[in-house]
Amino acid sequence: MPAPAPTRSRDVRAAVDRPTVSFELFPPRNPDAAPKLWATIQALGEARPDFVSVTYGASGKTRDTTRGLVRRLLRETSLNPIAHLTCVGTSRAEVTAVVEEFLDEGVRSFLALRGDPPADQPDWRPHPEGLETASELVALLREIEERRCRGSLAQKVRATVRPLSIAVAAFPRGNAGTGSTRAQDVAALLAKQEAGADFAITQVFFDAGSYLELVAEAREAGVTIPIIPGIIPTTDPARLLRVEALTGVTVPRPLLDRLGSVDDDAERHRVGIRASVDLVNAVLDGGAPGVHVYTFNTHHAALDLLEGAHLGGGAPTAPDRAPGPQAGSPSPVPAPTN
Ligand SMILES: Cc1cc2nc3c(=O)[nH]c(=O)nc-3n(C[C@H](O)[C@H](O)[C@H](O)COP(=O)(O)OP(=O)(O)OC[C@H]3O[C@@H](n4cnc5c(N)ncnc54)[C@H](O)[C@@H]3O)c2cc1C
Repeated sequence: MPAPAPTRSRDVRAAVDRPTVSFELFPPRNPDAAPKLWATIQALGEARPDFVSVTYGASGKTRDTTRGLVRRLLRETSLNPIAHLTCVGTSRAEVTAVVEEFLDEGVRSFLALRGDPPADQPDWRPHPEGLETASELVALLREIEERRCRGSLAQKVRATVRPLSIAVAAFPRGNAGTGSTRAQDVAALLAKQEAGADFAITQVFFDAGSYLELVAEAREAGVTIPIIPGIIPTTDPARLLRVEALTGVTVPRPLLDRLGSVDDDAERHRVGIRASVDLVNAVLDGGAPGVHVYTFNTHHAALDLLEGAHLGGGAPTAPDRAPGPQAGSPSPVPAPTN
């Protein structure tokens, strides 16, 4: 049999190896924010992301708005949504009900998280019948799916053609929020993998070394699942400081100084994108499978970052489906306003 032409095999390999591109969104905080979010989603859709993930408030605070956004993404776009799900403070029965609701609506991808206990409630106690860790949530998701498949051959067929996928969180510098070290979080990541997680997405970080060290330590410990770096476009110093306060991940002062020393907004944006592009290039050169961009529900910085890193977007789109809203669906998305 003749060997395949070299150019074709190179093309195929390039397509297979192309890094994944994905975005994190949060549900609109109020109905007025929805139109702007949908304009953002439409713009981000042009990058043909492999998936978009939708955050979920700890203790189920955004249960309805997260569900609403995920449902609309499924019904009205060709994007592949991943529903974040937290379990802290909730009973096993309540989490099971939420999972069933998502599955009934056709959701096939979850990011299973423990979530953080409320910081402003010193007397807060875990739910006596709750789950304690994300790995327990991963196991519960697998259990629920198995039970649904056992009970229905139709469901089994559906699950075969659209398998459940479960992502989990990973922490390049340990999790300051829980006080755990990187070694403890690598052990937790291994437990998540053993419970049935398919891949991990990292918390934000600002130096390639911490991501690459996490991956090396995880591989050493037996973690084999892909670990996708979570990247924040570093264009807005005020936002970076808010992220630092929220996550405990220190933003390098030289970066903040560089951004702060520029008066012109457009130039500051360019400086910030340059720094993020360097970070993305460094982690991709180090073997990262793709990038997950924390968008903060805006698209300019996310798309400029992808363009700078020559990542046009990954997911192949079926010929009859547009990357954004599905052809033939009622027009859900107003024209972008920014
Ligand atoms: C990509 C990403 C997305 C996120 N999205 C959200 C979101 O939508 N909503 C939200 O509220 N929060 C979100 N978070 C924050 C997350 O919920 C918190 O960081 C939380 O503190 C840890 O969650 P986890 O799923 O990693 O928990 P776990 O892995 O369960 O870890 C929690 C604590 O338990 C310890 N632990 C875990 N397993 C074991 C074990 N087997 N043995 C011993 N100790 C163990 C860990 O070391 C850690 O201290 C996100 C974080 C990331 C990185």
